[in-house]
Amino acid sequence: MIVTMTGDPDISVNALIVGGGPAGLAPLVSASRAGILDRILSAGLAIVERGPAIGSGRIGSYAINSDTAANTLVNCVIGNPYPFLAGLTECPATVAVVAHGNGTVPLGLAGQLMASIGGALHEYISAGGNPVLTGHEAIHTRQGEDGRWQTLVRRTADGSHRTIESRFVILATGGHQPDECLESQRVGGVPLLPTYAAKLIQSDAALTAAGLTEIGRRLDAGPARRVAIVGSSSSSMACANAVLRAPFGQELSAGAVTLLHRRPLRIFYPSAEAALADGYDEFGPDDICPLSGFVFRFAGFRLDSRELAMSARGIAGRAPEPRLRLHRLVPDIDPAALDILDDASVIVAALGYRPRALPVLNAAGDPVALLAVQPGAQPLVDKQCNVLAANGAVIDGLMGIGLAAGFASAEAIGGEPSFSGQTNGIWQWQNEIGALIARRL
Ligand SMILES: Cc1cc2nc3c(=O)[nH]c(=O)nc-3n(C[C@H](O)[C@H](O)[C@H](O)COP(=O)(O)OP(=O)(O)OC[C@H]3O[C@@H](n4cnc5c(N)ncnc54)[C@H](O)[C@@H]3O)c2cc1C
Repeated sequence: MIVTMTGDPDISVNALIVGGGPAGLAPLVSASRAGILDRILSAGLAIVERGPAIGSGRIGSYAINSDTAANTLVNCVIGNPYPFLAGLTECPATVAVVAHGNGTVPLGLAGQLMASIGGALHEYISAGGNPVLTGHEAIHTRQGEDGRWQTLVRRTADGSHRTIESRFVILATGGHQPDECLESQRVGGVPLLPTYAAKLIQSDAALTAAGLTEIGRRLDAGPARRVAIVGSSSSSMACANAVLRAPFGQELSAGAVTLLHRRPLRIFYPSAEAALADGYDEFGPDDICPLSGFVFRFAGFRLDSRELAMSARGIAGRAPEPRLRLHRLVPDIDPAALDILDDASVIVAALGYRPRALPVLNAAGDPVALLAVQPGAQPLVDKQCNVLAANGAVIDGLMGIGLAAGFASAEAIGGEPSFSGQTNGIWQWQNEIGALIARRL
């Protein structure tokens, strides 16, 4: 439905955040750590979130453990200069996360921590008269001749509309896995769709409790108890772990799960010395982060995924995991890969996310094409979190952050020079990446 915006806006603020998940709140968390949150709020801020509450977004829905250490996740509240956030150190979710120390945390619990941060921020922001509109979804945003943004918002309970005018709009709407990507991206020489439609499940669904139950059901019903997982990212190794740890996973035979990956599977190490002490020498100077000294800081598997990758690859004397096989995909036709896909009863596609973003209109009401929707998995944002138009130009006042936004800047956050991917981590968003936005607001 097209709803035209006429007349005065219902709300006028300096900045509107669309999407109240971990990334949407991150610039505010970053600002709180820098002591400038009140300045941002006094300039006027609104948040629009489709769900019933801000804070957790989708992270709590995955039935796996974090690849961020517990101590890192709670970093944002402990010692925070704002007492309403520092006070969360005592809340049950924080205490439960802290108990995991430098280890991994169930993402359900990480979601509870994010929800309590969201609850505290909601109260603080609205106490200052700034609107937090939960149960509302943004439909589109339009830039007027004067450069200000008019965002059309729909209340999900009754379908009523209102407009929010702002100088800045921050898109923090998360990512998704469109099926169309699987119709063009080739694996072993063929796209996964439509050939394997009947046995395909996307990793975002596979990593939920319902998705894992569905995989178990399909293995029971299928001709072979074999799973193929396609992808080289942390999600692909997380899928392998989740399948092997599921109740049905215990009964899988040797080689029942195959991970088909194009990129080499890298292992994170806190230093080159620690890596070499383990006999791990697959790295050079370009694989070491100059800021932290970490080896494969961004490309390397961490925590549970790291352990499984080390077992599967026989690194540092880890006990082998016979149920998991690794297959390195070759660029063109890969008959062995096609055999693995043909033999599997379930194929999990863990080939990454695309940004959801939001329809953007110009002053005439015509759509503005974004770079992110052009072919070739282009980023939504540049190195300053500005959203980019299809021609690569910055769209003034429109910023983006979060899952699949495509943020990449070694200058801002460090990382190994050889890393060419994007950074999708709450800690980075709550620190340097969020600070880029907070400073602009
Ligand atoms: C399997 C998996 C494991 C991960 N593990 C970790 C980890 O261990 N550590 C880590 O740091 N990161 C992790 N991440 C990355 C990241 O932290 C999470 O994906 C996180 O949920 C992303 O936050 P987000 O705010 O970008 O997106 P989301 O969590 O998807 O939140 C987006 C929010 O925007 C809202 N929204 C969307 N569109 C609209 C609209 N039009 N109007 C209003 N509201 C809207 C949604 O309702 C939602 O609440 C993981 C990611 C995945 C996929």
